[in-house]
Amino acid sequence: MLLPDSKRILLKLSGEVLMGNEGFGIDPEYVARLAEEVKQAKDSGLEVCLVIGGGNIFRGIAGAAKGLERTTGDYMGMLATVMNALAMQSALEKIGVATRVQSAIPMNAVCEPYIRRRAERHLEKGRIVIFAAGTGNPFFTTDTGAALRAAEMKCDALLKGTSVDGVYNKDPKRFDDAERHETITYSKVLSDNLKVMDAAAVSLCRENDIPIVVFSIREKGNVARVLAGEGVQTIVR
Ligand code: UDP
Repeated sequence: MLLPDSKRILLKLSGEVLMGNEGFGIDPEYVARLAEEVKQAKDSGLEVCLVIGGGNIFRGIAGAAKGLERTTGDYMGMLATVMNALAMQSALEKIGVATRVQSAIPMNAVCEPYIRRRAERHLEKGRIVIFAAGTGNPFFTTDTGAALRAAEMKCDALLKGTSVDGVYNKDPKRFDDAERHETITYSKVLSDNLKVMDAAAVSLCRENDIPIVVFSIREKGNVARVLAGEGVQTIVR
């Protein structure tokens, strides 16, 4: 086991992984593959919280660069995360995993509003809770939303599934001699401005003593592998 005493984890997936090999949007086949991974985490006996980004559909900052008002763009980005959450919910329920989506922006016809105590109850009953709409506030990211929910739900770790297999001393896509850290401190990530998660998310995890496990979600079976301590990752703690 990578984190032996863990009972509850929060898994954060960036929106981009939902598009699989497509250039945009949601690839249901790939979402189905991710749902299997999430199920494996749950089947290992953990309580699982899920946060999915929205970058495969919309990012406020990208809209702002083209003249859209930033806050409007950010709300659009938050709505994108709700679409992703629904896609993941559908894929999980198809393979028999009970889930609830809770949105930071109430939209009662679509999903539940975020209510911490209710989320707690769902987890106790063995359901996976997908937290949508980030923090509900513009100028934040879903990484910060993930760190916030991980703190509120008293998660033992935040697993960040992304397209690289950890934190490197320099960009591994540009430098062949880049070296991956096995572990690294929150402070080092912040002082060196390493692109793991945004600073607000890293600070929140530091304050609440929540280790961040950065790993690649691109390889099939990696969630289970990382949880079993047999994977490749960087732990920020
Ligand atoms: N967003 C926001 N507040 C939040 C979370 C997200 O305004 O608390 C918006 C923001 O515009 C962001 C977009 O939603 O760019 C999608 O989220 P993010 O970029 O974090 O997605 P990811 O990179 O994980 O796919």
